[in-house]
Amino acid sequence: MSQDKKIKIGVLALQGAFVEHIHVLKRLPQVSDAVPIRTPEEFQGSQIDALVIPGGESTSIALVAERSGLLDHLRNWVKSGKPTWGTCAGMILLSNHATHTKLGGQKLIGGLDVVVQRNAFGAQVDSFSAPLTIDGVAGEPFPAVFIRAPIIESVGSDVEVIARLDASRDERIVAVKQGHLLATAFHPELTSDDRFHRLFVEHALAHLSS
Ligand code: GLN
Repeated sequence: MSQDKKIKIGVLALQGAFVEHIHVLKRLPQVSDAVPIRTPEEFQGSQIDALVIPGGESTSIALVAERSGLLDHLRNWVKSGKPTWGTCAGMILLSNHATHTKLGGQKLIGGLDVVVQRNAFGAQVDSFSAPLTIDGVAGEPFPAVFIRAPIIESVGSDVEVIARLDASRDERIVAVKQGHLLATAFHPELTSDDRFHRLFVEHALAHLSS
């Protein structure tokens, strides 16, 4: 794939912060378009190269995805090795196992070999921002916004940890990479810093050319 190749990115748009992702992605030079994905028809018809699963409420996203018939498409997409990034609720959905789920559990897309704990910071500190050093993001620390965020409790052997909180928050894992998958416990789309979106696009381009 040549240097000037552009990609089309879909953003799962069932609930949560999908508009914000679309706005950031549309401004990036290597993105030909960023489109909302709401139905199996849109998923199949829009010819996307990569997918973002946004933050929001993972239980609602999973429920709507299942009812609309999208869940199986999403699982097949991830299984087939397509570049995918999950933010916050999206990270929960991509995980193979989630703890602190609602009674009866919740449906996941899976594929990312991690155990995720939902709402890991409790009700008192349910949102905060922290400067993060992220592998692959050059320059000053990234202003990461956490909202009722999950953390990654453990990772499988193929998972690379790319960011952790500092010692005051027990160096908890908040960003990982596994082959074609990226996941962040925080919300880069809610800041004006587009470096993580650029990282995803580079990651997707590298995967699509390999
Ligand atoms: N707590 C939410 C969930 O479990 C995630 C929060 C978020 O995406 N900002 O789905």
